[in-house]
Amino acid sequence: MNRRSTAYLISVGDEILAGQTVDTNSSYIAGRLSQAGIRVLKITAAADSAAEIKSTLDEAVDKAGIIILTGGLGPTQDDLTRPALAEYFGMELEFRRDILAKIKARYKSRGIPMPKAVEVQAYFPKGAEPIENKFGTAPGIFIRKNDSLIFSVPGVPREMRGMIDGFIIPLLQREGLGIPRLFRIIRTSGAGESVLSEMIGDNLPQQVEIAYLPKFFGVDLRITAESESIKESTRLLDEAEDRLRERIGGYIYGYGEEQLAEVIGGILRMRGWSIAVAESCTGGLLGGMITDIPGSSDYFKQGYITYSNEAKITLLGVSAVTLENHGAVSAETASEMAAGAKERAEVDISLAITGIAGPGGGTEDKPVGTVYIALAHPGGVDVKRFNFKDDRRMNRHRSAHAALNMLFQYLSKDI
Ligand code: ATP
Ligand code: MG
Repeated sequence: MNRRSTAYLISVGDEILAGQTVDTNSSYIAGRLSQAGIRVLKITAAADSAAEIKSTLDEAVDKAGIIILTGGLGPTQDDLTRPALAEYFGMELEFRRDILAKIKARYKSRGIPMPKAVEVQAYFPKGAEPIENKFGTAPGIFIRKNDSLIFSVPGVPREMRGMIDGFIIPLLQREGLGIPRLFRIIRTSGAGESVLSEMIGDNLPQQVEIAYLPKFFGVDLRITAESESIKESTRLLDEAEDRLRERIGGYIYGYGEEQLAEVIGGILRMRGWSIAVAESCTGGLLGGMITDIPGSSDYFKQGYITYSNEAKITLLGVSAVTLENHGAVSAETASEMAAGAKERAEVDISLAITGIAGPGGGTEDKPVGTVYIALAHPGGVDVKRFNFKDDRRMNRHRSAHAALNMLFQYLSKDI
């Protein structure tokens, strides 16, 4: 990693350390830098104290080529960034008539008298370059020291953004900083991040980094490659993806923003298959997820919401004896629901869900969150028991998602 293309961000302010201000400035800056190919190594917050600012700078100057400070540039006693920087880099504070003139002009244009305290902002580190503030009075500070670029911008978000986008990013680009970096998001479902990471181990090419991004359902893997050319980075990502497929191929369902229901829809359409669903505890959620996808009428034929035993018997042909002997939440009932839906809707494949979403209805054998999901396919019926341990809403969502996942696993087995 080229040191010149790395950055440290320092937010200055007691209010951040006291939890009163959320440090949104850093996340904004980090996002803009990442887009520009600059790697942010660390984000820190420092108190309104010259000593703290300086000791934070020690580490930053040591590690990164680019340092951006926000906050503490104002005219009040607690605004110490300017003198701290001047002292740290051994620069005098010199009075700058041109800066004072700009500040005065700003007050004049707004028709308000300039408070005396503001004059302090015209004392500027000698040898540093002021960064124009289009939205306020305090100019930013740009210092070039040895191999490092140091920027100090105000804490007020609008003023900060104006300087990042109007001055800093363009300057970094002019300096030729930033590294060609490519990334790819690979979506998985059905295994947690620790299981995935154990299976993947350290089998990716060295120049490829992997990040595990757990989502509501499933884990996204972001693989990032950095090299001297886009072509080489692409090759590295292809190689990393091949290795991922060898190791965890069964859990991968798509790329980027693709949804599981969308991928399943694509496979069903390709095969010319139709599907039906039979839902008890999810009350239509599964059918909703499948039909959320545009064009799902090509394969989705019918949904049964059979909440009561009676509905399971009359609409799906579940046997009263099964319900009596095993209960509505059982592998047997789930299987008969799936088989019944498949037969009555005359489809190629069907999913059924029955479970206890909660908060009431749990027993010792079948606590809240017990869900049976059955898949009826041309070769028979598969059924699985799940134990979700969430609240009602989440249990319902997890159930519907697990059903989709089960279907995906089946469909991808023999492609
Ligand atoms: P001013 O000239 O207004 O005093 P300043 O550069 O001294 O500007 P601060 O006094 O540190 O900046 O902060 C001004 C305001 O900007 C804070 O009250 C806060 O609302 C906001 N702010 C400061 N730092 C951050 C940050 N890191 N993230 C988000 N907002 C911030
Ligand atoms: Mg201030």
